[in-house]
Amino acid sequence: MIGTGILKGMAVTARNFVGSYFDKERLITVQYPEERDPLPENYRNFPFLLYDGEDPHAGLRCVACKICEKECPPQCIYIVNSEDKKPDYMGKPQFYPKVFDIDISVCMSCQICVEVCPFEAIKMDKDFELSKRERFDALLLRKDELSKSNEYYHKIHPIEAAAVDKNLADAAAAAEAKKKAAAEAAAKAAAAKAASVGDAGSVLGKLTASPKAEIPGSTSARAPTNSLASSGSSSTPASS
Ligand code: SF4
Ligand code: SF4
Repeated sequence: MIGTGILKGMAVTARNFVGSYFDKERLITVQYPEERDPLPENYRNFPFLLYDGEDPHAGLRCVACKICEKECPPQCIYIVNSEDKKPDYMGKPQFYPKVFDIDISVCMSCQICVEVCPFEAIKMDKDFELSKRERFDALLLRKDELSKSNEYYHKIHPIEAAAVDKNLADAAAAAEAKKKAAAEAAAKAAAAKAASVGDAGSVLGKLTASPKAEIPGSTSARAPTNSLASSGSSSTPASS
C-alpha cells in the first residue's frame, strides 16, 4: 500500500518521542556542550606526540626519524632534528625533534603517521574542539602543544594504550634478555680463552723446566722445546 513506509517511520518517531519521557536511552540527542556523550574507543581526530613520565622533553618518545613526515600524504608534518642526543624510552641515546609541527588545517586524520611510527611515539587524539578565529598560524600545532602524557593516552584510548604498554614492556624485556645472553656468552668465551692460555702456559712451563726429564737421552728431546722457544718463549734455555 502506498504510504506504508511513511506511517511506519512516523510510528517509530512517535514511540521514541513518548518513550523518551520515561527512558533516557530513547533520547537520541544531547544538550551539547553541557552534556557530552563519551566518544568511542576508536574515535580519532588529529595526531599528538606521546611522552612518558612527568617531563615532556625527557620522556618524549619521538626520535625524529622523520618516517611519519615522509609518509604523511598531504605533507603536513614538519620536523627538524636535534643536534645533541637524549636517552629514549629504552635508555638508548637518540636524537629528538627540535621542531615538530603539524598543520591541522591540512591534516586529513588518516592515521598513517601513527601506523608507520616504529616507536609508538605518535597517536591519534580525540580533541575535536579546535576551532580558531585565525586560520593560519593558530592551526599549526607546535611540539609543546602536541606533546601529551601516557596517562592522557590511557584516558582517551584505554584498550589501545594498554596494548601499546604491553608491547613496549615485552620489547624492553626481550632487549634486556638479549643483552644478558650476550654478556654471559662474552664472559664464557673470555673464561675459555683464559683457561686455554693457562693450559698452554703450564705445558710450556713443564717443557722448559726439564726437557730431558720428559724425553730422556734423546737429541730429538729438544725439538719440541726449540720449536716452542722459536715461537716466542724467552725462558727456554739454549742448551742444557
Ligand atoms: S593523520 Fe594523516 S594527514 Fe594527518 S598528520 Fe598523520 S599522516 Fe598526515
Ligand atoms: S613520530 Fe615516530 S615516525 Fe615520526 S619522527 Fe617521531 S619517531 Fe619517527
